[in-house]
Amino acid sequence: MSNETYRICQNCGTVNLNRDYCKNCGEIININLKRKLEREEKNKKKIASEKVKEKNDVTLFFENAKDHKNIFIRYISRFFYSIWIVVLAIGSFLALVFGYIAA
Ligand SMILES: [Zn+2]
Repeated sequence: MSNETYRICQNCGTVNLNRDYCKNCGEIININLKRKLEREEKNKKKIASEKVKEKNDVTLFFENAKDHKNIFIRYISRFFYSIWIVVLAIGSFLALVFGYIAA
């Protein structure tokens, strides 16, 4: 009977045997499961905020300049825009790598 795990609910104080969720109030009482869920939730939020950040001021500036009526400005801005896209790609890749190392 070494597999029996008693967990006391932090929310209502009920003692639960071999359960991940409290039988009384439904609170998560398995700390490992709770941490895992919290980490997944955090990752989801991080990915969502990164998607919003993608179209920042610099990107919008280049997108406007690309269609400028002066052909010279159009070519210059397209050149720098392609560099900017590469910088963004490398930056998000590094953020992903460091995210995995930190976790
Ligand atoms: Zn409870």
